[in-house]
Amino acid sequence: MAVPQNKVSKSRRDMRRSHHALSGANPNECPNCGELKRPHHVCPSCGHYADREVVAAGTEIDLDDDAA
Ligand SMILES: [Zn+2]
Repeated sequence: MAVPQNKVSKSRRDMRRSHHALSGANPNECPNCGELKRPHHVCPSCGHYADREVVAAGTEIDLDDDAA
C-alpha cells in the first residue's frame, strides 16, 4: 500500500481544506404558491412544477396501515 513520504503540516492540510466550505442554497419562489423552493424541483408545499400540479399536495400516505 502506498504510504505518504512526508507528513502534511497543519498549515498545508488547512490550506487544502480552505476549499471545502459548503455554499448556500439558491431557492426560487414558486410561481403557484409563492413559497421558496429548490430550482428544477417540485414545490414541496403545493406539488406544482412548470405551472401544473404533478404531485398531490397534503395527502399523507399511511404506510403502517394493516388493511390485510
Ligand atoms: Zn408551490
